Amino acid sequence: MSDKSLRSTLLNLDGASYKAYKEIRGNYQFPDFTLIIDYVQGDPFASPSKFRVKIPQSIANFPQQLYQSQGREIALRDYLTRQFYQVSRSISSHRGTGKSGLIAIAATEQEVLERTSVLIDTQFVEVRFVVGLPARGRRILGRQAAAMLCEDIPDIVHSALLYHSLNSQEIQQHVETAEDADWIRQQLSAKNLVAFVANKAILPRRSGIDFSPLETNPVPFQSPPALEVEFNCPNRGVIRGMGIPEGVTLIVGGGYHGKSTLLQAIELGVYNHIPGDGREFVITKPNGVKIRAEDGRSVAGVDISPFINHLPQGRSTTHFSTTNASGSTSQAANIIEALEAGAQLLLVDEDTSATNFTIRDRRMQALIAKEKEPITPFIDKVRQLYHDYQVSTILVMGGSGDYFEVADTVIAMDNYQPYDVTERAKAIALQYPTARQEEGGNSFGNITPRIPLPESIDPSTHKRDIKVKVRDLNQITFGTEDIDLAAIEQIVDQGQLIAVASAMVYGKANYFDGQTNLATVLDLIMKQIATKGLDSITDFPQGDLVLFRRFELAAAINRLRSLVIRNDLLPSLRQSQEGDYN
Ligand code: ADP
Ligand code: MG
Repeated sequence: MSDKSLRSTLLNLDGASYKAYKEIRGNYQFPDFTLIIDYVQGDPFASPSKFRVKIPQSIANFPQQLYQSQGREIALRDYLTRQFYQVSRSISSHRGTGKSGLIAIAATEQEVLERTSVLIDTQFVEVRFVVGLPARGRRILGRQAAAMLCEDIPDIVHSALLYHSLNSQEIQQHVETAEDADWIRQQLSAKNLVAFVANKAILPRRSGIDFSPLETNPVPFQSPPALEVEFNCPNRGVIRGMGIPEGVTLIVGGGYHGKSTLLQAIELGVYNHIPGDGREFVITKPNGVKIRAEDGRSVAGVDISPFINHLPQGRSTTHFSTTNASGSTSQAANIIEALEAGAQLLLVDEDTSATNFTIRDRRMQALIAKEKEPITPFIDKVRQLYHDYQVSTILVMGGSGDYFEVADTVIAMDNYQPYDVTERAKAIALQYPTARQEEGGNSFGNITPRIPLPESIDPSTHKRDIKVKVRDLNQITFGTEDIDLAAIEQIVDQGQLIAVASAMVYGKANYFDGQTNLATVLDLIMKQIATKGLDSITDFPQGDLVLFRRFELAAAINRLRSLVIRNDLLPSLRQSQEGDYN
């Protein structure tokens, strides 16, 4: 069918009851593109209708160099999503009741991420968006619908999705910036670094809810000479900045001098950022995980014995479960779960850590005997973690110099500028010995794999087979349960949560079998997405999925209050599973 027949259908529907819109489902050939109506909403207040446009490359005309590599392709898709977002926002207007008049694509933040809102290959550019089909009350506004579908949508396509109508320099910059960032991230390990912060980077944000760069007097980052490294990037050439080496790094300094701001930038350095963000070249290893205390969370069958032993009442700490973790047990579980999922770098801020998990000083050791304290503090484990598992840690620690002993690198923030104070900290540690007893034993201890019971991961309610919903950046409704993800700071886009929820449903249907451990299921799901795309985890093409990391998927599964972990494993099974981690 043609755009003309769509127009006449819509005009004919004018005044009909809203349900009659259902008949416009289907494909329509416009002069420059195909419009595909996949789903039509049932009423003007329901979630809006799902549309796609497919524009042949003969018309869209994007040069192949802009999407020839996977990294470039992701960046170009991200760019086009942003263009569509801006143009549709300026064109779409309120045209009646409820969502009438809406034309919208998934919103974006500062991160350049793989999104299903736009797909691109040598044949087509495909864009997925939603439309609020217009009505007055429950009566179809056919004329308005015709204007939206047959005029506004073509206008948006023409100004947001054709190469010749876009700013080619800006596109090139978007793609090349992401490519350079990917390149630095790939080179980190070869230089024995876990993170890189480029000189001139702008780290502070405008506010706690506005993630664009601070406008008023931001102090640009400048590496201390001793930590300065350089990368020769494919597009921008040489970029210099501070390299944070593997091992244990402390960020110290007075309150309000920029410690947490630096750590937060590093946390999000696992993702690429848009040009102008200020953190384009703040780059972190892809498997860096933010760790914090999270009292009140549930924990299912985690072996927290490296940190916590002989709890009161003989509670197990090798298969620790609780519906209400304390600050220290939640932080221990967060670390073990991150390690189980494959973290190679832990990011910890004193602001959000449990004090008794972080430190136990000489005087407290004297007053409370080791036998009376279940917690082995992080200070006695952080080196073992690096030695036994090659897991590095970056720790913001303004409050205790006891950590000087265990640090490889100490960076002081002073008036938002970093200084390398490693030598001084080491000298001070010699000058003022703390006389602490080490409490960590000979080794870090086991990271015990866990096998979830599939029936404990259940997206159904008594009415529906599958019910998943996402709220803001911090909650997934999964079946009858609300999963609280407010503490997961490396979720940056609501689409990641939608995709995580979909992956949980998909994992339940395909991978969780009561035999396979969680880390292996994460492997299988991530591998499938890498080879078959995000679309492969949903039944229908969705435009609102954004790629997540395995750690955020694990975080959601681990916070499911219904989750049950098998604890009936035979010693032999257990041993062979553990073999994977040694
Ligand atoms: P700390 O963790 O050391 O107490 P924060 O990182 O929380 O300090 O920073 C304190 C304040 O300073 C925040 O409002 C932050 O936005 C601002 N800030 C941080 N870094 C910079 C910078 N480079 N330039 C200007 N302001 C900054
Ligand atoms: Mg702070």
